[in-house]
Amino acid sequence: MTAKPAKGSARKAARAARRKIERVERAAKRAAKERDGWRCRRCGYTSSVWPVEAAHLVDKQMGGDHGRFSCERRHFVALCPPCHQGPNGIHSGRLRMVYDPESMGDGVVSFELRN
Ligand SMILES: [Zn+2]
Repeated sequence: MTAKPAKGSARKAARAARRKIERVERAAKRAAKERDGWRCRRCGYTSSVWPVEAAHLVDKQMGGDHGRFSCERRHFVALCPPCHQGPNGIHSGRLRMVYDPESMGDGVVSFELRN
């Protein structure tokens, strides 16, 4: 008979796996911001006071799986806070990113504002 795993070990393993995903995502986001020269890919904004953010090309709400679409540099583009979270930003639902599904953020990304 095999020994029963230590109490809380499954939770500990799940937490370690989650932390690993977060670590990989953080590194991918940083690499994307470096690739984009710390400038917003939409408007060119750059600032050390109000830094650019890494935005998912495939969002959770758009059917993306964060483990799968958060682990590589190409999964992100640098956007300034207004272009990311603002009233006409990506998360407003009015702005859409158009990109090559293979190169994603490493390739050309264009932005379409919907009426
Ligand atoms: Zn911007």
